[in-house]
Amino acid sequence: DALKPNNFLRTIIERDLEQGLGGERRWAGQPGDAAAHAAAPLDAAKIRTRFPPEPNGYLHIGHAKSICLNFGLARDYGGECHLRFDDTNPEKEEQEYVDAIKEMVAWLGWRWDVKQDHSTGSNLYYASNYFDFMYRAAEYLIEAGLAYVDEQTPEDMRANRGDFTTPGTNSPFRDRTPAENLARFREMRDGTHADGAMVLRAKIDMASPNINMRDPALYRIRRAHHHNTGDKWCIYPMYTYAHPIEDALERITHSICTLEFEDQRPFYDWLLARLAEGGLLAQPLPHQYEFGRLNLSYVVTSKRKLRQLVEEGHVQSWDDPRMPTLVGMRRRGYTPQSIRAMVESTGVTKQNAWIDYSVLDGCLRADLEGQAPRAMAVIEPLKLKLTNYAEVFGSLEHRDPCSAPAHPHHAELGQRSFSFGPELWIEREDFLEVPVKGYQRLFPGNKVRLKAGHVVECTGCEKNEAGAITAVLATVVPDTKSGTPGADAIKVKGVITWVAAHEAVPVEFRLYDRLFTVPQPGAGEADFLTEINPQSLRITQGFVEPSLKSVSPEARFQFERHGYFVADRVDHRAEAPVFNKITGLRDGWGK
Ligand code: ATP
Ligand code: MG
Ligand code: MG
Repeated sequence: DALKPNNFLRTIIERDLEQGLGGERRWAGQPGDAAAHAAAPLDAAKIRTRFPPEPNGYLHIGHAKSICLNFGLARDYGGECHLRFDDTNPEKEEQEYVDAIKEMVAWLGWRWDVKQDHSTGSNLYYASNYFDFMYRAAEYLIEAGLAYVDEQTPEDMRANRGDFTTPGTNSPFRDRTPAENLARFREMRDGTHADGAMVLRAKIDMASPNINMRDPALYRIRRAHHHNTGDKWCIYPMYTYAHPIEDALERITHSICTLEFEDQRPFYDWLLARLAEGGLLAQPLPHQYEFGRLNLSYVVTSKRKLRQLVEEGHVQSWDDPRMPTLVGMRRRGYTPQSIRAMVESTGVTKQNAWIDYSVLDGCLRADLEGQAPRAMAVIEPLKLKLTNYAEVFGSLEHRDPCSAPAHPHHAELGQRSFSFGPELWIEREDFLEVPVKGYQRLFPGNKVRLKAGHVVECTGCEKNEAGAITAVLATVVPDTKSGTPGADAIKVKGVITWVAAHEAVPVEFRLYDRLFTVPQPGAGEADFLTEINPQSLRITQGFVEPSLKSVSPEARFQFERHGYFVADRVDHRAEAPVFNKITGLRDGWGK
């Protein structure tokens, strides 16, 4: 299931493979050591990509795109894809997220714990393992006159950066000697200065039309505990400095990122070229390529906004089945295959794309249609009483055995057994005291078939004092059982689903709708929080057929006429079953 053939990245990779990846050196062993980097042989026939999440939140559907793209390209071209935790920002990162990210990459079907070529080691990397190298590289840049310590206030620094129409202004600290800068930088490292007192900046060009080239910051002072390096450092590299180095040390050939990094590419190239000139990195150097982000309609895919939804209680948790996080989508019941098929169907382009939720639902149906067992479920139950049951079957205690295939096209999945009795549960919407035009289900005087059971004729209903319907009354038409000779002698137009009251399994149904009421939440003037759908979750107490008495969490079914459901992986218990609605049988709102 490769991403659409012939995307522009494939074209680039194929060209590069044809021409050879340009070097005779390959990185081997633990990155971080410049001499080893330069000495290691490079497999000129092998591409390397990476998926580099920052472990500061849960992965969402947009990340799935990047995961499938990077791992998919490496697989298709016999290369390797690294799972690299971009953990250079100490404050926001947590082990919980590292673990959750690993789990989701594996759930999507990709391996980071082994090399694709089965050589020793894994494809798991941490950017924080390169802090020593990054520090040495910074000292090199200072010595080469390519970096300086700036003591301007953050406000002055911002003001002196200029903007799209105005060139920046050189910092008064820009012309310090390398020796002065080196001393200051070592003081930064040694904790002599307060957080935020100064930064290390690249010395490039304050008049560059690309604002990212106006002496970008490389290091800042931040006294924060790091999940990997503890309290060893009180200075931390900036993302824009760290990321190219990480790629180079890991011998990434194609560094694929989203479009917003396009303006960073000149600095990426500048930095790696300078470090290569200094002998800290060897050729060939990685190249960055950008592609359009994937956005899913009716949800948000920004970690900040997702965090807000959780922290302010708009949803229950990161894995709330309404969330576009991968943990949430998994809990909702989406299969890894459906998510992969969805991101693959959207291709790789240079435009940010909004993908309609219906594309995902279509992929889910395509995946489950051929394999999910069928079952009957009653979601909004109403009692159906068969008033002539004892006459037809001899006694009220008689149980008339019925069966149906688990899947209409897969006999090997076997038969489901259930039984018919004097009281059944049917859907509330399957009875109308006064039928509307074209209504073919139960109304007084009309006959319908109870699917895989008998034909019944409606005779009326019972009501409570308030006038609400509490039960439907009907008689069984003898000798009409499905699958028996003569069953079709009576022609009926309506077929309805049911579960016998004596063996119905009581369950909770969680029926989900779009999390937001508009396709592009937050895109207009309104705060995205005001666009939350207040009816995104509806819970009902209903019934399923007895064959579902003890299913495992995450078991998926097609409930006839209702759609695809999954046993909730967190709350489902044999003694208290919970089924989430994944999606309906066809496209449409709510249903
Ligand atoms: P967010 O903006 O939601 O916080 P991020 O880009 O900051 O996401 P990272 O952990 O840095 O999150 O992302 C890891 C990788 O996933 C990056 O290479 C990033 O470009 C990619 N990625 C993130 N969101 C999307 C998206 N919507 N579509 C495609 N790729 C994405
Ligand atoms: Mg990021
Ligand atoms: Mg971000």
